[in-house]
Amino acid sequence: MATINSNFLKLKAGYLFPEIARRVKAYTEANPDKADRVIRCGIGDVTEPLPPSVVKAMHEGVDEMGCRDTFKGYGPEQGYAFLREAIVENQYAELGIAADEIFISDGSKCDTGNILDIFGAGNTIAITDPVYPVYVDTNVMAGNTGDADPSGAYAGLVYLPCNAENDFSPAIPEEKVDLIYLCYPNNPTGTTATREQLAAWVKYAKENDSVILFDAAYEAFISDPAIPRSIFEIEGAKDCAIEFRSFSKNGGFTGVRCGYVVLPKSVTGKAADGSRVPLHQLWNRRQSTKFNGASYPVQKAAAAVFSPQGKKEVAALIEHYMGNAKLLREAAIALGLKVYGGENAPYVWIACPDGVDSWGMFDKMLNEAQVVVTPGSGFGSAGEGYFRVSAFNSRDNVEEVCRRLKALVA
Ligand SMILES: *Cc1c(COP(=O)(O)O)cnc(C)c1O
Repeated sequence: MATINSNFLKLKAGYLFPEIARRVKAYTEANPDKADRVIRCGIGDVTEPLPPSVVKAMHEGVDEMGCRDTFKGYGPEQGYAFLREAIVENQYAELGIAADEIFISDGSKCDTGNILDIFGAGNTIAITDPVYPVYVDTNVMAGNTGDADPSGAYAGLVYLPCNAENDFSPAIPEEKVDLIYLCYPNNPTGTTATREQLAAWVKYAKENDSVILFDAAYEAFISDPAIPRSIFEIEGAKDCAIEFRSFSKNGGFTGVRCGYVVLPKSVTGKAADGSRVPLHQLWNRRQSTKFNGASYPVQKAAAAVFSPQGKKEVAALIEHYMGNAKLLREAAIALGLKVYGGENAPYVWIACPDGVDSWGMFDKMLNEAQVVVTPGSGFGSAGEGYFRVSAFNSRDNVEEVCRRLKALVA
C-alpha cells in the first residue's frame, strides 16, 4: 500500500481566501442590487497589463522558437546567462554577487517552498506573525513542525510577533533558531526594515550559525533611499543569507511566472559529520535534478524589464500602484484610523477601530461600503485587530473606494 506524507494532514484547510469568497458570495446573494458595486481590495495580485517592452520581447522569443535557426530546446537549469547577467548588472552591481550565484525560476512562491529540500531535519524555524502563509505550510509539509493548536499556531515553530508596539519589526529571538524567514517590504503589513534592523539579524545569524531566508519580492516598491533593497547590502549577509526575488509584482509577471534565488557561494550549512557544505552546491544540484529551467520566451521577457524602455515602463507601473497606496492611506487616516505600511510597499495595513476585530471589520467594509479587504488575523494571530488593503487595483476603483470610505464616516 502506498502511504502518504502524513505531514499534509497537519495542514489547516486553506481558510482565509475561501472564507472571504464565501462571505462575499453570501452578501451578493442576499443583496443582488449591490453585487455590481463590490470592489476587491483583498488579493495580492497585480491588475495592470504587462509592460509593452515585455510583451515585445516575449513575442520575439516565441518567434525565435518557431524558426529552425533560432529554435532552443532545454535551456540551462539555472537560467540563461543573458538574464543572470542582466540581474547582476541591474540589481546587484555594487554588491559583489556573481551571475552564477543567481538561479532563475518560475517564481518565488516555488523557490521559498523548494529551498527546504536542501535543509536537514530538526532545524528550528522562526517566522514572523503575521506572515505570508507559504513559509509556514511548506515547513509543515516538510515535517518541521508538530500539530496546529486551535489558534492555528504550529508546535515547534518560533513565532515572532509583529505589531504596532514593535513597529512591525520583530524582536531578535532569545533562543537559537536555525532558519529565519524575513520578508521586506512586508506582505501583509506593508512595512519595511531599516539597515540597523537587518544588520541585527545578520549579526544574530552569524553568531548562531543560522540562515536568513530573505524574501524581497516587493523590493521595487521601495522609494526611500535609506531602506535596504537587498539583504546583501548588509555586511556579512553573504555568509548567512539567501535572497528571493520575483518579476511578479514589479513586471506584472504573476501569470507569466519568473523569479530568482540569489545564493552566494559563501553561505554554508553543517553536514552530519560536522563539515561545512556550501548551500550553493546543494541548490544547484536540486535545481538540476528537479527543475528544467524557466521557458525561453519568459526569460527574454524578464530581461526586457532591465532594458532602458522596460525600466521606464516598470517605473510607471510602480508609480501607479504607489499612487493608489497613497490615496488609500490618506482616506483611512482621514477616517481616523491608525495606518501602517503603504509607503514603500503596495499594501496598507490598518488597525481596526476599538472593539472591532479583523473579521468584524471585513464584514463592516463589505456590508457598508461593498469593499473587500483581507482580515489581518488570516495571516497569523498577531494580525488580529488589523486589516490589509491592497493597492493592486485600477485608479478608478481606488478613487471609488476612497469616496466610500469618506461616506462611511459621515
Ligand atoms: C507575491 C509574492 C511573492 C512572489 O511570488 P511568485 O511566485 O514569484 O509570483 C513572493 N513572496 C511574497 C511574500 C509575495 O507576496
